[in-house]
Amino acid sequence: MTGQMSIVIVGSGLAGYTVAREFRKLNADSPVTILSSDHGGFYSKPMLSNALATGKTPDVILNSSAVKMTDQLKLTVRPHTRVMAIDRSSSSLVLQDGENLSYRQLVLALGADQIRLPLAGNGAGLVSSVNDLDDYRHLRDALEGKNKVVILGAGLIGCEFANDLAVAGYRVHLVDIGEWPLGRLLPQSGGAFLQSRLESVGVTFHLSNSVHNVDRVGERLRLTLAKGGSLEADVVLSAVGLKPRITLAQEAGIAVNRGIVVDQLLRTQDPSIYALGDCAEVAGRVLPFVMPIMHASRALAATLAGNPTPACYPAMPVLVKTPSCPTIISPPDIGARGDWKVTEDQDGFKALFQDEGGSLLGYALMGAATKEKNALTSQLPSVMG
Ligand SMILES: Cc1cc2nc3c(=O)[nH]c(=O)nc-3n(C[C@H](O)[C@H](O)[C@H](O)COP(=O)(O)OP(=O)(O)OC[C@H]3O[C@@H](n4cnc5c(N)ncnc54)[C@H](O)[C@@H]3O)c2cc1C
Repeated sequence: MTGQMSIVIVGSGLAGYTVAREFRKLNADSPVTILSSDHGGFYSKPMLSNALATGKTPDVILNSSAVKMTDQLKLTVRPHTRVMAIDRSSSSLVLQDGENLSYRQLVLALGADQIRLPLAGNGAGLVSSVNDLDDYRHLRDALEGKNKVVILGAGLIGCEFANDLAVAGYRVHLVDIGEWPLGRLLPQSGGAFLQSRLESVGVTFHLSNSVHNVDRVGERLRLTLAKGGSLEADVVLSAVGLKPRITLAQEAGIAVNRGIVVDQLLRTQDPSIYALGDCAEVAGRVLPFVMPIMHASRALAATLAGNPTPACYPAMPVLVKTPSCPTIISPPDIGARGDWKVTEDQDGFKALFQDEGGSLLGYALMGAATKEKNALTSQLPSVMG
């Protein structure tokens, strides 16, 4: 058994590193170890869907290597170190090479996997997705000298890539089962506004449709559409949603639901094990975005430093990185009751989600209307008090 019973964080993404950074502000000395199955470097993941048009290489996006992070935060970072199991009876982790590493407090910051559609055909294995810096590297290689890209999924990440790839000069087709893009976040008229802006930079939409087969045809891929017809592509990029990484916790007998179940202290039912970021379900909410991670990290760092602090979420608007249609959305909380009230002109789109009494519970702003962000955000209730 190795380790000095330190705080062990599994995952070197935004969640893992932000907890470590916040903890160091409160405690300069206690040993902290970060284990990561990837390279362990720090980078901004949101940049990945906005980097092709500006020619950003993976090396430019990588902010600090694992070695730099080790120096900067005075901790131990072990890249390419996958955790295979949590042995709660001995408060230790089983690593891929068989080593057992003890922990005093364990933080699971495991992220989420991209959902893979059950596609048939001999080209299904060639469908890409971008969920980390290595994936982005592979996408850039795959796009080299190519022209036509089909994106599966017109959610946040699919729309952002569509905009980025179109502006970078690729012919982009976007396929989604829903009737309009960002269907979970926008009312229909908002989806139509976004769609027309993306069409104006060359994106072709195939809505209320899906792909069931991907077959190789020479160097290219042919996608068979559910509604008939087919599309040819050099590269197929899937962006149909995320699935929190829960298996490690589940196999250790820790409660999971959509994500690893934690309370507002970010604590699982095992008082020495915490979870945050894309893998966690915090008091019933799975919010795979940057802002919840920042708030949760500060609270968890205080808790780890000996001052139990519940995570609180204010209203947290999400900036959709579609420069052809600047968009800011603050979605109503799960279960919120109300209706969208829409005003629109050719320069902008504003949708306010209000309850019966007229209180603002969420909004979607596009184009010129995005300048109302601050005024509207100040009227929103907090997401988790
Ligand atoms: C293309 C893209 C664009 C986005 N844009 C935005 C945006 O504009 N705004 C916004 O708010 N959010 C955005 N997001 C979401 C945001 O980036 C994520 O919410 C955030 O980065 C998640 O951080 P994380 O640390 O929870 O997970 P991750 O960054 O996925 O980190 C998980 C870490 O866990 C490690 N790991 C997993 N399993 C193991 C194991 N068994 N053993 C060891 N290590 C393990 C992984 O190697 C990795 O280091 C975007 C996401 C993507 C993919």
